Parts: sequence; C-alpha cells; structure tokens
Amino acid sequence: MAENSNYTNVEALPEIVGRMHKSFDSGKTRPLEYRKQQIRNVLKMLDENKEELAQAMAKDMGKPRFEAFAHEIMPAEYEAGQFLAHMDKWLKPEKPFLAGEYPIFLFDSGTVQKSPQGVVLIISPWNYPIRLSLNPLIGAIAAGNTVVMKLSEICEHTTALTKTLIEKYLDPDCVQVVLGGPEETGQLMKQRFDHFFYTGNPAVGKIVGRAAMDQLAKVTLELGGKNPTFVANSCLDISTAASRIMWGKTINCGQTCVAPDYVLAEKDVYAPLVKAMSLYPESVFGKNIKSSPDFGRVVSKRQFDRLYNLLSTTKGKFVTGSLEECDPETLYIPPTIITDIGLDDPLMQDEIFGPILPVISIDSIDEGLDIVKTKEYPLALYAFANKKDSSFILQNTRSGSISINDTVLQMVTARLPFGGFGNSGLGSYSGKYSIDVFSHQRTVLNRSISFPPPGVDSVRMPPYENWKY
Ligand code: NAD
Repeated sequence: MAENSNYTNVEALPEIVGRMHKSFDSGKTRPLEYRKQQIRNVLKMLDENKEELAQAMAKDMGKPRFEAFAHEIMPAEYEAGQFLAHMDKWLKPEKPFLAGEYPIFLFDSGTVQKSPQGVVLIISPWNYPIRLSLNPLIGAIAAGNTVVMKLSEICEHTTALTKTLIEKYLDPDCVQVVLGGPEETGQLMKQRFDHFFYTGNPAVGKIVGRAAMDQLAKVTLELGGKNPTFVANSCLDISTAASRIMWGKTINCGQTCVAPDYVLAEKDVYAPLVKAMSLYPESVFGKNIKSSPDFGRVVSKRQFDRLYNLLSTTKGKFVTGSLEECDPETLYIPPTIITDIGLDDPLMQDEIFGPILPVISIDSIDEGLDIVKTKEYPLALYAFANKKDSSFILQNTRSGSISINDTVLQMVTARLPFGGFGNSGLGSYSGKYSIDVFSHQRTVLNRSISFPPPGVDSVRMPPYENWKY
C-alpha cells in the first residue's frame, strides 16, 4: 500500500471498535434473518465484482484468472451458500437429556446455546486475500458477531478494492475494515475484542496470541509451516503423485500455506518421481513458462529477495529452474526442483513459501519420520502410499491435516475443518466448524422451582450429619 496513505488513522481506532461493541450490544446482529441478509450481501458483492477482484489479484501477484475464480471467489461463494443452506441447523442449541443421568432433573432442561461472542477481530494475509478474509467473515457474521477486519497491506490492490466493496455492500454496524501495517495492527490489538482470529506466519501469530491473552480473549491462529510430502515405494502411481505434488506446489506461485514444502521419496521411487516431476512445468505452462498466463508471480520484492537468496545459497542440484531465469523486475521465479541437499541446507530450515521444491531420498519411511520430527508440527502433511504405509505415517506424525494421495484439496470442502496444530495453528474453521469457533458454547440450565419437593431438594444442603455413603 502506497506508504501509509490509505492506512487508518490510529486515533480513529477506539471509535471504530467502539462502534462495533455498541452495535453488538444493541442486539442488531442477533436476528438470524439479519445475519443471512449480510451473507447474501457478500454473495451479491462477489457476483457483481468478480472481474474487478480477479484483476486486482492479478495486479498484486499475477494470480491467474482461473485461480482467482476457482481458488478465491468461488470458495467464498461456496462458503456463503453453505451457510445460507445450513446455518439454521448448525446454530441449533444442543439439548442433552439431563434426567437420564440424574433423575432430579426430570422437570428441567439443559441446553448448550451457540451464543455470539461479541466483537471479532479478523487479521488476514495477502496470499489468498479473498477467501482468507471472507470465509472467516461469513462464519463470524453467521454466529451473530460484529467484526473488525484488518486486511493485508501487502496485496494493496485487492485490499483497497475489498475495503471499498465491504463498505458498499455490508452494514457498517456489522463490519468495519481497518487498513495498516504492523504498527497500526499493534495499536488495533490494544482495543478490546472478544475474539482474535489471525491468519499469517507463526512469528506474528505469537504476537497476536499474546495480545489476545493480555485481554484473556479467545484466539484462533491459522499459521504455516514446512509441509512434508512422503512418496513411498508402495505408491501405486508415480506419475499422478508427481503431477499432484507439482500442482500443489505451483498454484499461486507456491505461496500457499498448505503447499508441499519438501518431498521425502523412498529410494526405489526417487528417480522416477523426480523425472516425472521435472516434466510437469513444461507440460502445463508450455516451453516459455514466464509468458504463461497460468503461472503467478511472487508478491513483493522482499519475498523475491528471500527466495532468490535461498536459491543462491542452496548446495543442491537444480533439476528444473535456475538462478539465471529468476527476474527481479517481474518478480518471476520459475518452478524449481532441487535435489541432493542435506538437512542443514537453507531450503530445509523455514517454510519456503514459493515455487521451490526440494526432494530428498530416504532409505525408509522411518528415516523420513525422523526428519519430520526435527521440525515444528506442520499445517499439512501428505502421503502418497498404500493403505498400510499411509496409516503408519498418519499414526506416527502430528499435523493440522493430512491428505493421502493428493495435496491441498483437504481445505476445499466446508465439511472438513481447516486448521493447524502447535506451531502451525490453534483452532480450525470452515462450514459448521466456523460456527463452533465463532460462538460461545453457553450452558443454560433451566430448573423447575417446584420439583423436587422441598424435603428432597434440601438433601444437598447442610447439616450433612445424616448423610451416609
Ligand atoms: P502478511 O504479511 O499479509 O501478514 C498477515 C497479517 O498480519 C497482515 O494483515 C499483516 O498486516 C499482519 N501483521 C504483519 N506483521 C504484524 C505485526 N508485527 N503485528 C500484528 N500484525 C501484523 O502475511 P504472511 O504472514 O506473510 O502470510 C504468509 C504466512 O501465512 C505463511 O506462513 C503461510 O503459511 C501462512 N498462512 C496460513 C494460512 C492458514 O490458513 N493456516 C493461510 C495463508 C497463509
């Protein structure tokens, strides 16, 4: 974003957040029909502005048009549609039969209500700027909250347009958008919120977590990590494995939180796998990848320099891609497969978050598991293997999610929760799981005043001297 010119004045923050508290307290966001209308407004907003949004994402990171629609706009539309179809059911209170446990509750009722929490702060990242801001927003609204959104300053075109559209289509008593960088976000997090919902890198996740704990507010952290990808000797189809791995690695130019980060290939399949993977870029993007409309760009010079530095310092062998092909002017980094690296290589330290994929040969799955265990728990883990090997990997690892025989697709359905574990996140959301995340499970016990009769009711009260066990 042009140096701070569009950032929200920090002096306005107390009023912006205060307005959301006031509106929540007024009860305006409680009626289900109100919530649904706001979600319909999100759908209308997407429907009437999809081309502009796709163009903004193309400007920010060369996001291919197909990816802008299929990976951003359509998932947000799908999420909104799922809520409109199912939120009545998802929001229904649970009603356990209390007297089944204690007969004294015979004339009573106990419910677990999905109550709104209050004001939710959603801080979203640049890599999937539409779905990662709108999908949590839809869940937070459906649960009856008011929302303050802090969109990423890194994808300036998409952020500016999203702010304008939210202000045009949604009720300002329900959602407010704040713009800014770390400084403004730090000030924003000093305001009172009932829930901090953050998507981004783990280092900032810790800052957000501390800010939430300062207020003892609920916090959800959707973070990242190095996602291991096993390819076992037992994998039935190396060619499909290769293309699914390379697809997951090259969409959005590798800037996907669940992208495969490194491949651990058992030695019998290592050579055919690398060969099959190396054919992928040219087969889908053509001979001149740089001119393909289907391959995106790195989001910023800072990210380009970070990735270029990794490629300059790796001791590995380039199977595809090269330093010479990287172009700082257009922020182009080609799909790059690297082999023959040690675990101390720069590529094996932090999350790569770009179109670079190291492939490591392992003697056994056990050896791969030892490598995975030296790292923080990843957001996603992939296993291309038969049933026996994949369940062995499943049982001997921890991660936010695991997908067997494919990559990335575990996050496309609203019927599975999406989230990390440990360093890759805290809490998960999507579809009905968003209702759980953005609601307070409020216990309500409603007792009869006349049952049990006073003589029985007083058994629990002192004096206790006649009580026998
Ligand atoms: P980013 O730079 O856009 O930052 C995310 C948000 O944090 C932005 O709104 C930004 O303004 C804010 N922020 C930055 N510094 C801050 C600070 N010091 N204090 C408070 N707020 C601050 O995005 P990013 O972090 O570069 O995103 C990439 C990372 O996010 C990767 O690690 C990726 O794996 C992860 N990610 C996770 C998910 C998920 O759903 N789990 C999704 C996408 C990305």
